[in-house]
Amino acid sequence: MTYDMLLLRFGEFTLKGKNRNRFEKSVLNHIRNVLKPYPGAKILKEYGRLYIELNGEPPEILIHALKKVFGLVSISPVRVCPSELDPIIATAVEFVGQKELTDTTTFKVNARRVWKQFPHSSQEMNHLVGSPLLRTYPQLKVKVKKPDIELRVEIRENETYLYYEVIPGAGGYPLGTNGKAMLLLSGGIDSPVAGWSAMRRGLEIECVHFYSFPYTSQLAKEKVMELTRLLSGYTGKIKLHLVPFTDVQTSFVGIGQDNLIITFMRRAMLRIASSLAEREGALAIVTGDSLGQVASQTLPSMNVIGRATELPLLRPLVMMDKNDIINIAMDIGTFETSILPYEDCCTLFVPKSPTTNPNLNIIEKVEASLTRLPALLQAAVEGTETVIITPDSKIGTMAEKNEEFTLNEDWF
Ligand code: ATP
Ligand code: MG
Repeated sequence: MTYDMLLLRFGEFTLKGKNRNRFEKSVLNHIRNVLKPYPGAKILKEYGRLYIELNGEPPEILIHALKKVFGLVSISPVRVCPSELDPIIATAVEFVGQKELTDTTTFKVNARRVWKQFPHSSQEMNHLVGSPLLRTYPQLKVKVKKPDIELRVEIRENETYLYYEVIPGAGGYPLGTNGKAMLLLSGGIDSPVAGWSAMRRGLEIECVHFYSFPYTSQLAKEKVMELTRLLSGYTGKIKLHLVPFTDVQTSFVGIGQDNLIITFMRRAMLRIASSLAEREGALAIVTGDSLGQVASQTLPSMNVIGRATELPLLRPLVMMDKNDIINIAMDIGTFETSILPYEDCCTLFVPKSPTTNPNLNIIEKVEASLTRLPALLQAAVEGTETVIITPDSKIGTMAEKNEEFTLNEDWF
């Protein structure tokens, strides 16, 4: 396929009058970043739309990169020709001919005369372009409603744009336009998807990961760094806070409340994340919880765990099915890393029957009796190591990621 330009369409935020400038600026910055490696690509701004002149840069690769830009709703690769009848027809014929056409392919021409001095009306142009297409490709059939190919012809003063593909973009709100939140990132399938969903709503994300050396390995940590790296592909860079959790976690062992350990751990995580949030100026905590998935994600558990923080707890996946979550994980490219086997700190010291219905009074009483707990939480915050991760970060010696995989019950 040969193309001259990409046409980019913005999303829902165009409706938000006064924020529009801020949002447009944010998308534009993001696009500039994404296009840095392609010096030929030139951005043109025009009436609430963006065009990217390709100047020989590969359209498929650019489209792939632009699909990670939040706030972009769709992308159309465009052919450009002079605004004169003959070149428009010739370009249309050649352009449609690039597509595979069968006996069942339906089409219509949708011309728009933006430049009113052009001698033929939009309606006339539909016929003037449509007829030679039918003559050249007799297998085509005209269909007005939902045809396979809708060839748009936009006639402007300087040149005319032709396109028929509308490739969905990431949608959502531009990066960081809705503030900042801390993402609790484990090594699992869910939390990276939760992070992506939050970023797609315009939240800037900083990741927080709890690890328990020596019970969890260096590889487990690298797995989370790799997940952060994959997420940073959508933003350019992400801060990752690595919290040493061993002492906090082991303080809950041996107090005779084994079935509550997960509840204590989760509450401790939220407390530490809240301190980090305050330090970093984040206003919410995002988790990968999904209602009913495991004992710590029943409604009574969420209730008791959530009370450990005063910040809003955002759970983008709370009502989603695991299969839908897995599909997103595959789409956004985190799935294969998520299913690598390295253990998570939460799988340590896990009791045989974790409670699905913790009692807040008991939890609070036990916590109050753990006199060392506040100091341990404080120490965990102070011992937190922060790294900045970009798509180019080199992450340790992770095992082969491209092994064959099959659906496994453990992920549900
Ligand atoms: P995930 O696939 O994201 O690990 P999960 O279904 O395995 O989720 P849990 O292990 O119960 O669920 O964790 C619930 C949520 O708690 C996670 O989605 C994540 O947001 C947070 N979380 C769990 N373990 C950690 C950890 N070690 N570090 C940071 N956050 C964690
Ligand atoms: Mg997990």
